[in-house]
Amino acid sequence: MDQRTVSSVIAGRPVAGAPGGRIRSTNPARLDEVVADVALGDAALLVTAARAARDAQRAWADVPAPVRGRAITHIGRLVEDNKQALAALVTREIGKPYPEALGEVQEIIDTCDFFLGEGRRLYGQTVPSEMPDKQLFTFRNPVGAVAVITAGNFPVAVPSWYIVPALLCGNTVVWKPAEYSAAVADAFHELFCRGGGLPPGVFNVVYADGPTTFAGLEQALDAGLIDKVGFTGSSEVGARIGELAGRHLQSACLELGGKNPMVVTASADIDLAVEGALFGGFGTAGQRCTSLGTVICHESVHDEFLTRFAEATAAAAVGDPFADVLYGPMLDIRFAERFERFLAWIGPQHKVMGSSGIGRITAANPRARFVGDPEAGIFCHPTIVDGVRPGDEIFDRETFGPLVGVTTYRTLDQAVELANAPGYGLSSSIYTSDATEAFRFRRGVSAGMVSVNNSTSGAEAHLPFGGNGKSGNGSRQSGQWVLDQFTRWQALNWDYSGRLQKAQMDVAELTPDRDFRL
Ligand code: NAD
Repeated sequence: MDQRTVSSVIAGRPVAGAPGGRIRSTNPARLDEVVADVALGDAALLVTAARAARDAQRAWADVPAPVRGRAITHIGRLVEDNKQALAALVTREIGKPYPEALGEVQEIIDTCDFFLGEGRRLYGQTVPSEMPDKQLFTFRNPVGAVAVITAGNFPVAVPSWYIVPALLCGNTVVWKPAEYSAAVADAFHELFCRGGGLPPGVFNVVYADGPTTFAGLEQALDAGLIDKVGFTGSSEVGARIGELAGRHLQSACLELGGKNPMVVTASADIDLAVEGALFGGFGTAGQRCTSLGTVICHESVHDEFLTRFAEATAAAAVGDPFADVLYGPMLDIRFAERFERFLAWIGPQHKVMGSSGIGRITAANPRARFVGDPEAGIFCHPTIVDGVRPGDEIFDRETFGPLVGVTTYRTLDQAVELANAPGYGLSSSIYTSDATEAFRFRRGVSAGMVSVNNSTSGAEAHLPFGGNGKSGNGSRQSGQWVLDQFTRWQALNWDYSGRLQKAQMDVAELTPDRDFRL
Protein backbone atom coordinates (compact mmCIF):
# COMPACT_ATOMS: atom_id res chain seq x y z
CA MET A 1 0.00 0.00 0.00
CA ASP A 2 1.28 3.44 -0.85
CA GLN A 3 2.21 5.85 1.90
CA ARG A 4 1.72 9.59 1.59
CA THR A 5 4.17 12.18 2.81
CA VAL A 6 2.04 15.02 4.04
CA SER A 7 3.05 18.58 4.84
CA SER A 8 1.21 21.87 5.23
CA VAL A 9 0.58 23.85 2.04
CA ILE A 10 0.67 27.65 2.25
CA ALA A 11 0.20 29.98 -0.72
CA GLY A 12 0.40 27.00 -3.04
CA ARG A 13 3.76 25.75 -1.76
CA PRO A 14 4.40 22.72 0.45
CA VAL A 15 6.11 23.74 3.70
CA ALA A 16 9.58 22.30 4.20
CA GLY A 17 10.55 20.89 7.59
CA ALA A 18 8.39 19.96 10.55
CA PRO A 19 8.54 22.66 13.25
CA GLY A 20 5.80 20.83 15.23
CA GLY A 21 7.44 17.39 14.88
CA ARG A 22 6.44 14.37 12.79
CA ILE A 23 3.66 11.84 13.35
CA ARG A 24 2.53 8.73 11.56
CA SER A 25 -1.09 8.28 10.60
CA THR A 26 -1.85 4.56 10.66
CA ASN A 27 -4.69 2.37 9.42
CA PRO A 28 -6.77 1.70 12.57
CA ALA A 29 -7.82 -1.70 11.18
CA ARG A 30 -4.14 -2.70 10.61
CA LEU A 31 -1.93 -0.71 12.91
CA ASP A 32 1.24 -1.87 11.20
CA GLU A 33 0.21 -0.08 8.00
CA VAL A 34 1.35 3.55 7.89
CA VAL A 35 -0.97 5.62 5.70
CA ALA A 36 0.89 8.91 5.99
CA ASP A 37 4.02 10.40 7.39
CA VAL A 38 2.89 13.85 8.56
CA ALA A 39 5.01 16.95 9.16
CA LEU A 40 3.32 19.11 11.78
CA GLY A 41 3.49 22.87 11.92
CA ASP A 42 3.89 25.20 14.88
CA ALA A 43 1.85 28.24 15.93
CA ALA A 44 3.96 30.55 13.75
CA LEU A 45 3.11 28.46 10.69
CA LEU A 46 -0.57 28.93 11.32
CA VAL A 47 -0.02 32.67 11.48
CA THR A 48 1.92 32.52 8.18
CA ALA A 49 -0.98 30.63 6.61
CA ALA A 50 -3.47 33.19 7.94
CA ARG A 51 -1.35 35.98 6.43
CA ALA A 52 -1.28 34.17 3.06
CA ALA A 53 -5.07 33.83 3.20
CA ARG A 54 -5.43 37.49 4.14
CA ASP A 55 -3.15 38.56 1.25
CA ALA A 56 -5.08 36.50 -1.30
CA GLN A 57 -8.56 37.45 -0.16
CA ARG A 58 -9.20 40.75 -1.94
CA ALA A 59 -8.27 39.38 -5.37
CA TRP A 60 -10.37 36.25 -4.79
CA ALA A 61 -13.37 38.38 -3.78
CA ASP A 62 -12.89 40.32 -7.03
CA VAL A 63 -13.36 37.14 -9.09
CA PRO A 64 -17.04 37.33 -10.13
CA ALA A 65 -19.24 35.03 -8.07
CA PRO A 66 -20.44 33.06 -11.14
CA VAL A 67 -16.78 32.36 -12.01
CA ARG A 68 -16.15 31.17 -8.45
CA GLY A 69 -19.26 29.02 -8.92
CA ARG A 70 -17.63 27.44 -11.98
CA ALA A 71 -14.62 26.59 -9.82
CA ILE A 72 -17.01 24.76 -7.46
CA THR A 73 -18.49 22.96 -10.50
CA HIS A 74 -15.05 21.68 -11.53
CA ILE A 75 -14.16 20.65 -7.97
CA GLY A 76 -17.39 18.65 -7.71
CA ARG A 77 -16.73 16.86 -11.01
CA LEU A 78 -13.12 16.06 -10.09
CA VAL A 79 -14.22 14.67 -6.72
CA GLU A 80 -16.85 12.59 -8.54
CA ASP A 81 -14.20 11.22 -10.90
CA ASN A 82 -12.03 10.31 -7.89
CA LYS A 83 -14.88 9.12 -5.67
CA GLN A 84 -13.75 5.52 -5.20
CA ALA A 85 -10.11 6.43 -4.62
CA LEU A 86 -10.93 9.07 -2.02
CA ALA A 87 -13.46 6.79 -0.27
CA ALA A 88 -10.89 3.98 -0.13
CA LEU A 89 -8.42 6.36 1.48
CA VAL A 90 -11.07 7.36 4.06
CA THR A 91 -11.62 3.69 4.87
CA ARG A 92 -7.89 3.03 5.13
CA GLU A 93 -7.09 6.00 7.31
CA ILE A 94 -10.04 6.21 9.73
CA GLY A 95 -11.70 2.81 9.30
CA LYS A 96 -15.11 3.99 8.13
CA PRO A 97 -16.81 1.11 6.26
CA TYR A 98 -16.36 1.57 2.53
CA PRO A 99 -20.07 2.08 1.62
CA GLU A 100 -20.29 4.80 4.28
CA ALA A 101 -17.04 6.31 3.02
CA LEU A 102 -18.56 6.47 -0.48
CA GLY A 103 -21.52 8.31 1.06
CA GLU A 104 -19.13 10.65 2.81
CA VAL A 105 -17.48 11.57 -0.51
CA GLN A 106 -20.90 11.90 -2.15
CA GLU A 107 -21.67 14.59 0.43
CA ILE A 108 -18.86 16.75 -1.03
CA ILE A 109 -20.30 16.28 -4.51
CA ASP A 110 -23.81 17.16 -3.29
CA THR A 111 -22.47 20.24 -1.51
CA CYS A 112 -20.70 21.35 -4.70
CA ASP A 113 -23.88 20.69 -6.69
CA PHE A 114 -25.81 22.97 -4.35
CA PHE A 115 -23.30 25.82 -4.28
CA LEU A 116 -22.24 25.92 -7.92
CA GLY A 117 -25.63 27.51 -8.67
CA GLU A 118 -25.31 29.86 -5.73
CA GLY A 119 -22.51 31.56 -7.65
CA ARG A 120 -25.18 32.86 -10.03
CA ARG A 121 -27.57 33.77 -7.19
CA LEU A 122 -25.91 35.08 -4.03
CA TYR A 123 -28.87 37.42 -4.14
CA GLY A 124 -29.15 40.78 -2.50
CA GLN A 125 -32.39 42.73 -2.37
CA THR A 126 -33.73 45.98 -3.75
CA VAL A 127 -35.77 47.58 -0.99
CA PRO A 128 -38.16 50.56 -1.28
CA SER A 129 -37.18 53.72 0.54
CA GLU A 130 -39.57 55.77 2.70
CA MET A 131 -38.58 58.80 0.61
CA PRO A 132 -38.93 59.58 -3.12
CA ASP A 133 -35.99 59.43 -5.50
CA LYS A 134 -34.09 57.19 -3.16
CA GLN A 135 -33.38 53.46 -3.49
CA LEU A 136 -32.20 50.93 -0.90
CA PHE A 137 -30.20 47.75 -1.60
CA THR A 138 -28.57 44.89 0.27
CA PHE A 139 -25.40 43.04 -0.75
CA ARG A 140 -23.74 39.92 0.61
CA ASN A 141 -20.04 40.62 1.22
CA PRO A 142 -17.49 37.91 1.99
CA VAL A 143 -16.36 37.89 5.62
CA GLY A 144 -12.63 37.70 4.76
CA ALA A 145 -10.04 35.11 5.79
CA VAL A 146 -11.58 32.07 7.46
CA ALA A 147 -9.94 29.51 9.79
CA VAL A 148 -11.59 26.09 9.68
CA ILE A 149 -10.71 23.46 12.31
CA THR A 150 -12.29 20.04 11.93
CA ALA A 151 -12.56 16.62 13.62
CA GLY A 152 -11.60 13.48 11.71
CA ASN A 153 -14.74 11.37 12.00
CA PHE A 154 -16.18 13.02 8.88
CA PRO A 155 -12.81 13.89 7.37
CA VAL A 156 -14.09 15.22 4.03
CA ALA A 157 -17.87 15.77 4.25
CA VAL A 158 -17.77 18.18 7.19
CA PRO A 159 -14.80 20.19 5.81
CA SER A 160 -16.67 20.55 2.51
CA TRP A 161 -19.64 22.04 4.40
CA TYR A 162 -17.36 24.91 5.42
CA ILE A 163 -14.87 25.20 2.60
CA VAL A 164 -17.21 25.02 -0.43
CA PRO A 165 -19.53 27.86 0.67
CA ALA A 166 -16.65 29.86 2.16
CA LEU A 167 -14.78 29.86 -1.16
CA LEU A 168 -17.91 30.42 -3.20
CA CYS A 169 -18.73 33.52 -1.16
CA GLY A 170 -15.29 35.04 -1.84
CA ASN A 171 -13.48 34.13 1.37
CA THR A 172 -10.06 32.54 1.61
CA VAL A 173 -9.39 29.60 3.91
CA VAL A 174 -6.86 28.18 6.36
CA TRP A 175 -7.88 24.61 7.15
CA LYS A 176 -6.59 22.65 10.15
CA PRO A 177 -7.80 19.05 9.77
CA ALA A 178 -7.50 16.34 12.44
CA GLU A 179 -3.96 14.95 12.63
CA TYR A 180 -5.12 11.33 12.32
CA SER A 181 -6.88 11.99 8.99
CA ALA A 182 -3.99 13.85 7.36
CA ALA A 183 -3.69 11.67 4.24
CA VAL A 184 -7.37 12.16 3.45
CA ALA A 185 -7.02 15.91 4.10
CA ASP A 186 -4.03 16.09 1.75
CA ALA A 187 -6.01 14.35 -1.01
CA PHE A 188 -9.02 16.63 -0.44
CA HIS A 189 -6.82 19.74 -0.58
CA GLU A 190 -5.19 18.60 -3.80
CA LEU A 191 -8.55 17.83 -5.45
CA PHE A 192 -9.87 21.27 -4.48
CA CYS A 193 -6.82 23.25 -5.58
CA ARG A 194 -6.36 21.38 -8.86
CA GLY A 195 -10.05 20.99 -9.64
CA GLY A 196 -10.92 24.57 -8.81
CA GLY A 197 -7.81 26.09 -10.37
CA LEU A 198 -7.60 28.07 -7.13
CA PRO A 199 -4.97 30.84 -7.07
CA PRO A 200 -2.20 30.43 -4.45
CA GLY A 201 -3.24 31.47 -0.95
CA VAL A 202 -6.96 30.98 -1.52
CA PHE A 203 -7.04 27.58 0.21
CA ASN A 204 -4.22 26.78 2.68
CA VAL A 205 -3.89 23.71 4.86
CA VAL A 206 -1.91 23.41 8.08
CA TYR A 207 -1.29 20.21 10.06
CA ALA A 208 -0.89 20.80 13.81
CA ASP A 209 -1.92 19.36 17.14
CA GLY A 210 -4.68 20.91 19.27
CA PRO A 211 -2.71 23.15 21.67
CA THR A 212 -0.53 24.44 18.81
CA THR A 213 -3.65 25.22 16.82
CA PHE A 214 -5.10 27.20 19.71
CA ALA A 215 -1.90 29.20 20.15
CA GLY A 216 -1.60 29.89 16.40
CA LEU A 217 -5.25 30.87 16.11
CA GLU A 218 -4.96 33.23 19.05
CA GLN A 219 -1.90 34.90 17.50
CA ALA A 220 -3.59 35.17 14.09
CA LEU A 221 -6.69 36.71 15.65
CA ASP A 222 -4.59 39.12 17.70
CA ALA A 223 -2.81 40.16 14.49
CA GLY A 224 -6.16 40.79 12.79
CA LEU A 225 -5.54 38.14 10.13
CA ILE A 226 -8.62 35.95 10.67
CA ASP A 227 -12.18 37.20 10.34
CA LYS A 228 -14.15 34.05 11.01
CA VAL A 229 -13.54 30.73 12.76
CA GLY A 230 -15.39 27.53 11.91
CA PHE A 231 -14.88 24.73 14.43
CA THR A 232 -16.22 21.17 14.42
CA GLY A 233 -15.17 19.07 17.39
CA SER A 234 -15.81 18.46 21.06
CA SER A 235 -17.97 20.70 23.21
CA GLU A 236 -15.05 21.32 25.58
CA VAL A 237 -12.69 22.67 22.90
CA GLY A 238 -15.58 24.41 21.13
CA ALA A 239 -16.35 26.42 24.27
CA ARG A 240 -12.73 27.66 24.36
CA ILE A 241 -12.78 28.52 20.65
CA GLY A 242 -16.07 30.41 21.10
CA GLU A 243 -14.57 32.35 24.00
CA LEU A 244 -11.46 33.22 21.99
CA ALA A 245 -13.50 34.35 18.99
CA GLY A 246 -15.79 36.35 21.28
CA ARG A 247 -12.80 38.24 22.70
CA HIS A 248 -12.16 39.38 19.13
CA LEU A 249 -15.83 40.35 18.68
CA GLN A 250 -16.41 37.44 16.34
CA SER A 251 -19.04 34.75 16.51
CA ALA A 252 -17.51 31.40 15.60
CA CYS A 253 -19.44 28.74 13.71
CA LEU A 254 -19.45 25.96 16.36
CA GLU A 255 -20.53 22.40 15.51
CA LEU A 256 -19.97 20.31 18.61
CA GLY A 257 -20.77 17.05 20.37
CA GLY A 258 -24.11 15.36 20.81
CA LYS A 259 -26.05 13.11 23.16
CA ASN A 260 -28.75 12.29 20.73
CA PRO A 261 -32.01 10.78 22.00
CA MET A 262 -34.31 8.38 20.18
CA VAL A 263 -37.85 8.04 21.58
CA VAL A 264 -39.63 4.73 20.90
CA THR A 265 -43.34 5.26 21.55
CA ALA A 266 -46.03 2.69 22.22
CA SER A 267 -47.20 3.03 18.61
CA ALA A 268 -43.74 2.60 17.09
CA ASP A 269 -42.86 0.05 14.41
CA ILE A 270 -40.38 -1.86 16.61
CA ASP A 271 -38.52 -3.51 13.70
CA LEU A 272 -37.92 -0.09 12.15
CA ALA A 273 -36.85 1.35 15.51
CA VAL A 274 -34.36 -1.49 16.04
CA GLU A 275 -32.90 -0.97 12.58
CA GLY A 276 -32.59 2.77 13.26
CA ALA A 277 -30.99 2.20 16.67
CA LEU A 278 -28.47 -0.23 15.21
CA PHE A 279 -27.37 2.16 12.46
CA GLY A 280 -27.61 5.30 14.61
CA GLY A 281 -25.93 3.80 17.66
CA PHE A 282 -23.20 1.65 16.18
CA GLY A 283 -22.60 2.94 12.63
CA THR A 284 -19.06 4.42 12.38
CA ALA A 285 -18.52 2.63 15.74
CA GLY A 286 -20.72 5.25 17.42
CA GLN A 287 -18.23 7.98 16.48
CA ARG A 288 -20.58 10.35 14.73
CA CYS A 289 -21.70 13.62 16.25
CA THR A 290 -25.21 12.41 15.45
CA SER A 291 -24.73 8.94 16.94
CA LEU A 292 -27.59 7.66 19.04
CA GLY A 293 -26.89 8.33 22.73
CA THR A 294 -29.96 7.11 24.62
CA VAL A 295 -33.07 5.19 23.58
CA ILE A 296 -36.02 6.52 25.55
CA CYS A 297 -38.55 3.71 25.38
CA HIS A 298 -42.19 3.77 26.37
CA GLU A 299 -42.48 1.39 29.31
CA SER A 300 -45.03 -0.75 27.46
CA VAL A 301 -42.57 -1.59 24.66
CA HIS A 302 -39.28 -1.42 26.56
CA ASP A 303 -38.80 -5.18 27.03
CA GLU A 304 -39.73 -6.05 23.46
CA PHE A 305 -37.52 -3.32 22.00
CA LEU A 306 -34.56 -4.16 24.24
CA THR A 307 -34.70 -7.88 23.49
CA ARG A 308 -34.80 -7.32 19.74
CA PHE A 309 -32.18 -4.56 19.82
CA ALA A 310 -29.81 -6.74 21.87
CA GLU A 311 -30.34 -9.70 19.50
CA ALA A 312 -29.71 -7.56 16.41
CA THR A 313 -26.59 -6.05 17.99
CA ALA A 314 -25.23 -9.44 19.03
CA ALA A 315 -25.78 -10.73 15.48
CA ALA A 316 -24.16 -7.78 13.70
CA ALA A 317 -20.88 -8.22 11.86
CA VAL A 318 -18.03 -6.04 13.15
CA GLY A 319 -14.51 -5.87 11.78
CA ASP A 320 -12.67 -5.23 8.50
CA PRO A 321 -14.15 -1.97 7.13
CA PHE A 322 -13.63 -3.15 3.54
CA ALA A 323 -15.92 -6.15 4.26
CA ASP A 324 -19.69 -6.15 4.78
CA VAL A 325 -19.79 -4.99 8.43
CA LEU A 326 -21.95 -2.77 10.61
CA TYR A 327 -18.85 -1.00 11.77
CA GLY A 328 -15.07 -1.16 11.74
CA PRO A 329 -12.34 0.07 14.07
CA MET A 330 -12.15 3.14 16.26
CA LEU A 331 -10.89 6.18 14.31
CA ASP A 332 -7.59 6.26 16.17
CA ILE A 333 -6.05 4.80 19.30
CA ARG A 334 -6.90 7.95 21.30
CA PHE A 335 -10.62 7.27 20.83
CA ALA A 336 -10.29 3.63 21.97
CA GLU A 337 -8.47 4.76 25.11
CA ARG A 338 -11.07 7.41 25.86
CA PHE A 339 -13.88 4.94 25.21
CA GLU A 340 -12.42 2.61 27.86
CA ARG A 341 -12.81 5.49 30.35
CA PHE A 342 -16.46 5.95 29.34
CA LEU A 343 -17.06 2.23 29.94
CA ALA A 344 -15.91 2.69 33.55
CA TRP A 345 -19.09 4.74 34.08
CA ILE A 346 -21.16 1.54 33.87
CA GLY A 347 -22.47 0.86 37.38
CA PRO A 348 -24.20 -1.97 39.26
CA GLN A 349 -27.59 -0.37 38.53
CA HIS A 350 -27.07 -0.99 34.80
CA LYS A 351 -27.68 -4.08 32.70
CA VAL A 352 -25.14 -4.63 29.89
CA MET A 353 -26.06 -6.39 26.63
CA GLY A 354 -25.11 -6.55 22.95
CA SER A 355 -21.90 -8.57 22.79
CA SER A 356 -19.84 -11.30 24.39
CA GLY A 357 -17.70 -8.73 26.20
CA ILE A 358 -17.05 -5.02 26.57
CA GLY A 359 -14.06 -2.87 25.65
CA ARG A 360 -11.37 -3.87 23.14
CA ILE A 361 -12.08 -6.96 21.00
CA THR A 362 -9.04 -9.24 21.31
CA ALA A 363 -8.24 -12.95 21.15
CA ALA A 364 -8.81 -13.08 24.91
CA ASN A 365 -12.00 -10.95 24.71
CA PRO A 366 -13.45 -12.19 21.40
CA ARG A 367 -16.66 -11.41 19.59
CA ALA A 368 -18.65 -13.85 17.51
CA ARG A 369 -19.07 -12.80 13.87
CA PHE A 370 -15.92 -10.70 13.93
CA VAL A 371 -14.61 -10.25 10.39
CA GLY A 372 -10.80 -10.27 10.16
CA ASP A 373 -8.14 -10.17 12.84
CA PRO A 374 -9.21 -8.05 15.86
CA GLU A 375 -5.68 -7.88 17.23
CA ALA A 376 -4.43 -6.19 14.05
CA GLY A 377 -6.42 -3.04 14.79
CA ILE A 378 -8.44 -1.21 17.42
CA PHE A 379 -11.93 -2.62 17.55
CA CYS A 380 -14.45 -2.35 20.40
CA HIS A 381 -17.46 -4.43 21.39
CA PRO A 382 -20.88 -2.86 20.86
CA THR A 383 -22.39 -2.15 24.27
CA ILE A 384 -26.02 -1.56 25.25
CA VAL A 385 -26.51 -0.23 28.77
CA ASP A 386 -30.07 -0.57 30.04
CA GLY A 387 -31.38 1.33 33.08
CA VAL A 388 -29.55 4.65 32.57
CA ARG A 389 -31.09 7.70 34.27
CA PRO A 390 -30.30 11.43 34.58
CA GLY A 391 -27.40 11.81 37.00
CA ASP A 392 -25.56 8.81 35.49
CA GLU A 393 -22.57 10.02 33.51
CA ILE A 394 -23.53 7.55 30.79
CA PHE A 395 -26.88 9.31 30.47
CA ASP A 396 -25.59 12.86 30.83
CA ARG A 397 -22.47 12.89 28.66
CA GLU A 398 -21.43 12.07 25.11
CA THR A 399 -19.77 8.63 25.02
CA PHE A 400 -18.10 8.84 21.59
CA GLY A 401 -17.91 5.11 20.71
CA PRO A 402 -20.15 2.03 20.31
CA LEU A 403 -22.31 2.51 23.42
CA VAL A 404 -26.08 3.08 23.57
CA GLY A 405 -28.03 3.72 26.77
CA VAL A 406 -31.66 2.69 27.26
CA THR A 407 -34.22 4.20 29.63
CA THR A 408 -38.01 4.33 29.95
CA TYR A 409 -40.79 6.92 30.09
CA ARG A 410 -44.51 6.97 30.81
CA THR A 411 -45.85 10.22 29.26
CA LEU A 412 -44.64 12.08 26.19
CA ASP A 413 -43.81 15.11 28.36
CA GLN A 414 -41.45 12.87 30.36
CA ALA A 415 -39.87 11.61 27.14
CA VAL A 416 -39.21 15.18 25.99
CA GLU A 417 -37.78 16.08 29.40
CA LEU A 418 -35.44 13.07 29.28
CA ALA A 419 -34.45 13.90 25.68
CA ASN A 420 -33.44 17.43 26.71
CA ALA A 421 -31.94 16.60 30.12
CA PRO A 422 -28.26 16.19 29.09
CA GLY A 423 -28.25 19.75 27.72
CA TYR A 424 -26.93 18.97 24.24
CA GLY A 425 -29.19 19.64 21.27
CA LEU A 426 -27.83 18.30 18.00
CA SER A 427 -29.99 15.51 16.60
CA SER A 428 -33.01 13.60 17.90
CA SER A 429 -35.50 11.03 16.70
CA ILE A 430 -38.94 9.67 17.47
CA TYR A 431 -40.53 6.44 16.25
CA THR A 432 -44.32 6.73 16.26
CA SER A 433 -47.37 6.22 14.07
CA ASP A 434 -49.16 9.11 15.78
CA ALA A 435 -48.75 12.49 14.06
CA THR A 436 -49.69 14.37 17.23
CA GLU A 437 -46.83 12.74 19.12
CA ALA A 438 -44.40 13.53 16.31
CA PHE A 439 -45.29 17.22 16.23
CA ARG A 440 -45.42 17.59 20.02
CA PHE A 441 -41.97 16.02 20.23
CA ARG A 442 -40.64 18.32 17.52
CA ARG A 443 -41.88 21.37 19.40
CA GLY A 444 -40.55 20.27 22.77
CA VAL A 445 -37.16 18.83 21.89
CA SER A 446 -34.19 21.20 22.06
CA ALA A 447 -32.34 19.59 19.12
CA GLY A 448 -31.53 21.44 15.91
CA MET A 449 -32.49 18.33 13.93
CA VAL A 450 -35.44 15.97 14.41
CA SER A 451 -36.10 12.66 12.64
CA VAL A 452 -39.49 10.96 12.56
CA ASN A 453 -39.29 7.19 11.98
CA ASN A 454 -35.64 7.57 11.02
CA SER A 455 -32.40 7.27 12.94
CA THR A 456 -30.55 10.19 14.54
CA SER A 457 -27.92 10.09 11.74
CA GLY A 458 -28.23 11.09 8.11
CA ALA A 459 -27.88 14.69 6.92
CA GLU A 460 -28.74 15.95 3.45
CA ALA A 461 -26.56 18.61 1.87
CA HIS A 462 -29.34 21.18 1.48
CA LEU A 463 -30.99 21.08 4.93
CA PRO A 464 -29.69 23.15 7.86
CA PHE A 465 -27.29 21.16 10.05
CA GLY A 466 -26.36 22.26 13.54
CA GLY A 467 -27.18 22.23 17.20
CA ASN A 468 -28.04 24.13 20.33
CA GLY A 469 -26.88 24.05 23.93
CA LYS A 470 -23.70 22.02 24.37
CA SER A 471 -23.92 21.03 20.68
CA GLY A 472 -23.31 24.50 19.33
CA ASN A 473 -24.12 28.19 19.41
CA GLY A 474 -26.97 28.03 16.91
CA SER A 475 -24.85 28.34 13.77
CA ARG A 476 -26.12 26.27 10.87
CA GLN A 477 -24.28 24.64 8.00
CA SER A 478 -25.49 23.46 4.58
CA GLY A 479 -27.95 24.88 2.09
CA GLN A 480 -28.76 28.58 1.96
CA TRP A 481 -28.49 28.88 5.76
CA VAL A 482 -24.70 28.63 5.82
CA LEU A 483 -24.42 31.72 3.60
CA ASP A 484 -25.02 33.81 6.72
CA GLN A 485 -21.82 32.33 8.22
CA PHE A 486 -19.64 33.30 5.29
CA THR A 487 -21.11 36.62 4.20
CA ARG A 488 -22.06 39.82 5.96
CA TRP A 489 -24.98 41.91 4.82
CA GLN A 490 -24.12 45.37 3.60
CA ALA A 491 -26.92 47.95 3.27
CA LEU A 492 -26.69 50.65 0.62
CA ASN A 493 -28.95 53.67 0.29
CA TRP A 494 -28.72 55.86 -2.78
CA ASP A 495 -30.43 59.25 -2.80
CA TYR A 496 -30.79 60.71 -6.30
CA SER A 497 -33.20 63.52 -5.32
CA GLY A 498 -30.42 66.09 -5.28
CA ARG A 499 -31.21 67.23 -1.71
CA LEU A 500 -30.65 65.94 1.80
CA GLN A 501 -33.73 63.90 2.71
CA LYS A 502 -33.73 62.90 6.36
CA ALA A 503 -35.11 59.51 7.31
CA GLN A 504 -38.04 59.59 9.75
CA MET A 505 -38.23 63.40 9.47
CA ASP A 506 -38.79 64.17 5.79
CA VAL A 507 -41.33 61.42 5.21
CA ALA A 508 -44.67 62.17 3.56
CA GLU A 509 -47.77 61.27 5.58
CA LEU A 510 -51.20 60.45 4.10
CA THR A 511 -54.03 61.64 6.32
CA PRO A 512 -56.32 58.84 7.52
CA ASP A 513 -59.91 59.41 8.72
CA ARG A 514 -59.70 57.56 12.01
CA ASP A 515 -63.23 58.56 13.08
CA PHE A 516 -64.84 56.68 10.21
CA ARG A 517 -67.20 53.85 11.28
CA LEU A 518 -69.42 51.57 9.17
P1 NAD B 1 -11.54 17.68 19.47
O1 NAD B 1 -12.30 18.89 19.90
O2 NAD B 1 -10.54 17.12 20.39
O3 NAD B 1 -10.75 17.98 18.08
C1 NAD B 1 -11.36 18.52 16.95
C2 NAD B 1 -10.35 19.35 16.16
O4 NAD B 1 -9.89 20.42 16.98
C3 NAD B 1 -9.10 18.58 15.76
O5 NAD B 1 -8.63 19.08 14.53
C4 NAD B 1 -8.11 18.93 16.87
O6 NAD B 1 -6.76 18.80 16.48
C5 NAD B 1 -8.48 20.35 17.15
N1 NAD B 1 -8.19 20.78 18.53
C6 NAD B 1 -8.08 20.01 19.64
N2 NAD B 1 -7.82 20.78 20.70
C7 NAD B 1 -7.78 22.05 20.26
C8 NAD B 1 -7.55 23.31 20.88
N3 NAD B 1 -7.31 23.42 22.18
N4 NAD B 1 -7.60 24.42 20.11
C9 NAD B 1 -7.84 24.34 18.80
N5 NAD B 1 -8.06 23.18 18.15
C10 NAD B 1 -8.03 22.05 18.87
O7 NAD B 1 -12.63 16.63 19.04
P2 NAD B 1 -12.46 15.04 18.84
O8 NAD B 1 -12.76 14.40 20.13
O9 NAD B 1 -11.24 14.75 18.12
O10 NAD B 1 -13.67 14.80 17.82
C11 NAD B 1 -14.88 14.28 18.17
C12 NAD B 1 -15.87 15.35 18.63
O11 NAD B 1 -16.29 16.15 17.52
C13 NAD B 1 -17.12 14.72 19.19
O12 NAD B 1 -17.54 15.45 20.32
C14 NAD B 1 -18.10 14.85 18.04
O13 NAD B 1 -19.46 14.80 18.44
C15 NAD B 1 -17.71 16.19 17.49
N6 NAD B 1 -18.19 16.38 16.12
C16 NAD B 1 -19.20 17.27 15.88
C17 NAD B 1 -19.72 17.42 14.61
C18 NAD B 1 -20.84 18.38 14.33
O14 NAD B 1 -21.06 18.71 13.17
N7 NAD B 1 -21.59 18.85 15.32
C19 NAD B 1 -19.19 16.66 13.55
C20 NAD B 1 -18.14 15.78 13.81
C21 NAD B 1 -17.65 15.64 15.10
